[in-house]
Amino acid sequence: MTLDVPIHSVVPDFGTDWKYAAPCFQMPADAFYPDEGDRYNSTAGWDVCGTCPLKLECLATALRDEEQFGLFAQTSPDHRKMLATGLLRGTMNWTDVTNML
Ligand code: SF4
Repeated sequence: MTLDVPIHSVVPDFGTDWKYAAPCFQMPADAFYPDEGDRYNSTAGWDVCGTCPLKLECLATALRDEEQFGLFAQTSPDHRKMLATGLLRGTMNWTDVTNML
């Protein structure tokens, strides 16, 4: 997506230290990178993300890093693309996104 507004200007920067406290920190990465057939249903990652206290930091970082793959804060790549589009076009703001978590 090419819009005039950089994603870094509409999504806060939480740095990286929060990752070490994340419940997924020592989990196998494949829990968060399900096969296409899994479509983000019933994965261990999905369940862990559901109760994670760091979803906000996680989603912000995934959006800022423009993660093209994987599950972050219970969002699929398509979901994040939709959120990024809304943020960049100004049809939603960061408060709207946080209210969805
Ligand atoms: S929300 Fe992010 S930090 Fe939390 S468990 Fe899921 S992938 Fe890890």
